[in-house]
Amino acid sequence: MIPIKLMKKYIITAGMLTFLFINFIACGSQMYQMSMDEDTQSMRNSGNPDMNDPSSTLYAIHATEGWTRIPISFRFASNLSESQKIHLFAAMKRWEWATGKILFDYYGEHDKQGDDFTDLYSSLNDNINGHYLDYNWSKTKKPVYVLATTIWNNSRRASQINTADIRFNTQNYIIGDSLEISATDDKEVVDMQSLALHELGHFLGLAHVDESVDNLSIMNPSLYIGEGLTSRTLSREDIQRIQTIYGCSGDACNINKLIKSINFEDSDYFLDLAKKEINKQRN
Ligand SMILES: [Zn+2]
Repeated sequence: MIPIKLMKKYIITAGMLTFLFINFIACGSQMYQMSMDEDTQSMRNSGNPDMNDPSSTLYAIHATEGWTRIPISFRFASNLSESQKIHLFAAMKRWEWATGKILFDYYGEHDKQGDDFTDLYSSLNDNINGHYLDYNWSKTKKPVYVLATTIWNNSRRASQINTADIRFNTQNYIIGDSLEISATDDKEVVDMQSLALHELGHFLGLAHVDESVDNLSIMNPSLYIGEGLTSRTLSREDIQRIQTIYGCSGDACNINKLIKSINFEDSDYFLDLAKKEINKQRN
């Protein structure tokens, strides 16, 4: 069952909190939480014995050594829309802001799409770190209510990531800018930037954060979905945890100052950075 909880303070659109049933599809004025991924286990076990201990500074980190190299090269599947790309870039920019470091390096479009792969894990075999839309989600064998999933291969060390992919469930959801797009009779809207922020957390080495530990964390395992609903922020602890893996540089090292500067829900700051990134690729 999916846990139901009270509305978070930063949910921006007023609406009715609805109890979720797996086959229930809400209209846009309602809101409910959906499981984001069920992706807590890696292909090998985490090398971090403290991952599940909330009192440890290594809590909710599945790869304490991060990646074998940064920045991490990645490609977008060729069927992502311009808007989907911009919101993915914006989520990357927010994680980079949280560390003060360049973490991602765009290598252009992939010639493969999610539907070209036979199952969930086969997309890892090409050693390209890809972001894919899956219109045939059933083949991932994940339930329909799962919004997206991140998969990864560790290096020889279980605490370090070597390759990873993100797969988005576009068979059952419309994933894009929830402030702009509309639900249909059979598909609810999911905010790409909010979902990507969570999946990129896994991609970078973070695990789920229990809501009883930090209910503002983007790494909580569920997300409010629906028209107008976004969760585009990182909690203070999210920033601390990502810095535990990657360290910090410049202004990011003063977390108090950092969270006062730009970390609110509808900040255009990261979207503007993302648009510049897209234009850079074109030139
Ligand atoms: Zn997750």
